[in-house]
Amino acid sequence: MNNLSEIGDLLLQGKRIILCGHVMPDGDCLGSVIALGLALEKMGKEVTLAIPDPVPEVYNFLPEVKRFQEGSKALQGEYDSFIILDCSVPDRLGPLRELLTRPIITCSIDHHVSANEFAHYNYIDPKAAAVGEIIQDLLNLINFPLTPDISICLYAAIVTDTGSFQYDNTRADTHRRAAKLIEYGVPAAEINRLIYEQKPLSSLRLLEAVLGTLSVSPCGRVSWMIVNLEMLKNKNAGKEHVDGLINYGRSVRGVEVALLFQEISKDCFKVSFRSKELVDVNSLAGKFGGGGHNRAAGCIIKGDLETIKTQVIAAALQAVNETALVCFSPDV
Ligand code: 5GP
Ligand code: MN
Repeated sequence: MNNLSEIGDLLLQGKRIILCGHVMPDGDCLGSVIALGLALEKMGKEVTLAIPDPVPEVYNFLPEVKRFQEGSKALQGEYDSFIILDCSVPDRLGPLRELLTRPIITCSIDHHVSANEFAHYNYIDPKAAAVGEIIQDLLNLINFPLTPDISICLYAAIVTDTGSFQYDNTRADTHRRAAKLIEYGVPAAEINRLIYEQKPLSSLRLLEAVLGTLSVSPCGRVSWMIVNLEMLKNKNAGKEHVDGLINYGRSVRGVEVALLFQEISKDCFKVSFRSKELVDVNSLAGKFGGGGHNRAAGCIIKGDLETIKTQVIAAALQAVNETALVCFSPDV
């Protein structure tokens, strides 16, 4: 693995740089890509912002977000450097994975505990709550002065990946970095309103339907919910509105592991995993070919829902037992 100053030197050398986040983009990858992209542009580089899936509507407030080239569009361009942010494995690059096969310099900056060193240059810090934290440090290291737009993007990256500073990835240094951004002028309350209090009604109707599927294991430690394509269609909601629903499953008293089974296409499901304080869901998702963080992870599994549910719930119950959690009596 490289150190941050080697990554800084590398970035200074590039001339035509493409930056990219992961499939089903979130606030961290979008904010980090824009923040670093704008900084490199100010240094005189030719910069392309790319993202394998469409930008969710909720992030339309991010400065310069309209510049993202979505899907495989950016493959048409020519670049000398490919910078990958918040992407633990090549598969999560979607169609942009092809850029890894070109004779150009590749560099991955990430914070997933399960991350692979798949690029020429890799900087992975699982202690960082968000890639946005790493980008803030990187810009500081190369003495690049923050701009208002860059600060907003970094704040959005940090606030979303820490669940508004609630998750246990939030450290004192996370607050210090956010404080610096606020001191610099980031309108924190306004950004939080834009992210969390501008939901379309259809997304709450989807929540209503998904909560209808909420089940809790007899021991009260594992919960699960289901989202299928029909629900999305009936509620006129998009895939992006599934983001965050799993937190309701985790919020149940006594629950340690929450699961969400999301139909992606026929016989193909995305499984999201969350834990509260003990179970390592990165390892749990790893049993099914996925990964992520200790408290938030995911995987894609092919097959019918009942078989997938049976296997994943059994593994979650086993993980709960392995942590010697005593049985908790659910309220219902
Ligand atoms: P979410 O459940 O919000 O989609 O993802 C939670 C975490 O798990 C994210 O940090 C994400 O990077 C990781 N993750 C989600 N899906 C996959 C997957 O299919 N493969 C891997 N390796 N990680 C995933
Ligand atoms: Mn992230």
